[in-house]
Amino acid sequence: MTEAKLLWIAEEVKALQDSGLFINLRTIESAPGAWMVVDGQRVLNLCTNNYLGLADDPWLIQAAKEALDRYGAGPTAVRSIAGTLAIHKELEEKIAAFKNVEDALYVQSGFLANQAALPPLVGKEDVIFSDRLNHASIIDGARLSRAKIVVYEHCDPADLESKIKEYLPQHRRGLMVTDGVFSMDGDVAPLDKLYEVAERYGVLTMVDDAHGEGVLGRGGRGIVDHFGLHGKFDVEVGTFSKAFGVVGGVVAGKKVIVDYLRQKARPFLFSSAVTAADTAACMAAVEMLAASTELVERLWENTRYFKGQMQTLGFDVGHSVTPITPVMLGDVKLAQTFSRHLFAAGVFAMPLGFPTVPQGQARIRVMVSAALSRADLDFGLGKFAEIGRTLGVLS
Ligand SMILES: *Cc1c(COP(=O)(O)O)cnc(C)c1O
Repeated sequence: MTEAKLLWIAEEVKALQDSGLFINLRTIESAPGAWMVVDGQRVLNLCTNNYLGLADDPWLIQAAKEALDRYGAGPTAVRSIAGTLAIHKELEEKIAAFKNVEDALYVQSGFLANQAALPPLVGKEDVIFSDRLNHASIIDGARLSRAKIVVYEHCDPADLESKIKEYLPQHRRGLMVTDGVFSMDGDVAPLDKLYEVAERYGVLTMVDDAHGEGVLGRGGRGIVDHFGLHGKFDVEVGTFSKAFGVVGGVVAGKKVIVDYLRQKARPFLFSSAVTAADTAACMAAVEMLAASTELVERLWENTRYFKGQMQTLGFDVGHSVTPITPVMLGDVKLAQTFSRHLFAAGVFAMPLGFPTVPQGQARIRVMVSAALSRADLDFGLGKFAEIGRTLGVLS
């Protein structure tokens, strides 16, 4: 029996189940390679963020093992007390050089990188201009800052300008923040135009490049490189959990800001540092990308092939310009059924519904990876075609 004071929770969960929005966790029992074992079944992996196949790369694994032997399992302190390892500093230098920025701060995750960066830069007297579809971690970081949050229309520099004109005069300072690549649709922010507008009004500029690093720009140097805006954006947030294949977040950018964040960022001051093993694996990933563009090229080749074939089959793959491939299905129950059929046929691709995406825009999101061979892609395409016909999505 549920206690009376907790009944509302049971009702909330039931409502999620009834509306098809309840999240069922699948359990992974292997490394996230092209194929992996999920809930006891060997399936083609079309849904992790392992863009470059680095997550199970032998070089990363070896680097992690060596760091584990040298530094132990955990730093057992926050960075600002006794948790800053030599390897943390080395990684910060390497990622800053890779992204061509002055300095970088390594934190525990991309989610926390936004919490590290936003509250120190803006407060109660300030205003944040935020894209309508920004990631939850930007929204939470913005809320924590207690600045006024003004949402501008998705990827719309003209609306950004009109919002700046309307709200900046009543505030001490402003900050514009946007995702670089939007993770649900795979579209890219018009960073050059947003920068131009923000700069004209003296507004701070920040971009979250979680899905751009390792994907966009020369050799995967990210969205700022893609637009040739080096040295312009004040803050570039990133993550080591996607293309880099490990875990951890980074706040990169101008030295004056990064130095300031080392004094003020709460995830840095009050939560223990990332383990040496993870840090070493991150560093190996950055080194691999700095040394060769081969993986990034294969990622794009696979992306062009998969998307082209899906369109030929007749699927609506949205407006993505990146390896993120949303297979638009509309109804959340249809997306779940489609995903279940795929899984039974040996393809792992998860359905996404509200609140991750807007109501009525449920989809299966395929994440293309350099780890996939042409035969793997053809296997996945074959199953999408078969099930698309069975469920009446394709005619
Ligand atoms: C995934 C993602 C994050 C979170 O990164 P983690 O390292 O997984 O915490 C932050 N911002 C954006 C835009 C993301 O897509």
